Amino acid sequence: MPDIVACPACGAKNRIRPGMRGVPLCGRCRKPLQPPRDAGIRVLTTDSFESAIAMNPQPMLVDFWASWCQPCRAMADVLERFAAHRDDVTMAKVDIDAEPGLASQYQIFGVPTLVLFVKGHEVHRVSGAVSEARLQAEFKPWLGKK
Ligand SMILES: [Zn+2]
Repeated sequence: MPDIVACPACGAKNRIRPGMRGVPLCGRCRKPLQPPRDAGIRVLTTDSFESAIAMNPQPMLVDFWASWCQPCRAMADVLERFAAHRDDVTMAKVDIDAEPGLASQYQIFGVPTLVLFVKGHEVHRVSGAVSEARLQAEFKPWLGKK
């Protein structure tokens, strides 16, 4: 389902396709409509995963998801709010269909599964769609005191 977004500059209604790459521009005035949905969320692949989680100075919360998974979409909204409220965690995601090797290596048996890595090691995971409050509570011991 495309989302309809009103342009903040000229008010024109624009149709945004979910999963679109880059910043969507207004069809009338070409001003940016909004930051991309997954702004600030790193997309990890088999090639980038190990070094990304090991080298990242912050804890990294990885969302293992799939495009056919409805609860994953709800979870993406929750994660977006979660990320907006915290600057002490790096958000990342792995598409389990694109990266079945990672899904099996990290024993992802269902999606969404959220795994927190600190200095390259898994410290905690949450399976299934949960509320933002629940996320904050689950991962609080490894993050700051916000
Ligand atoms: Zn416009």
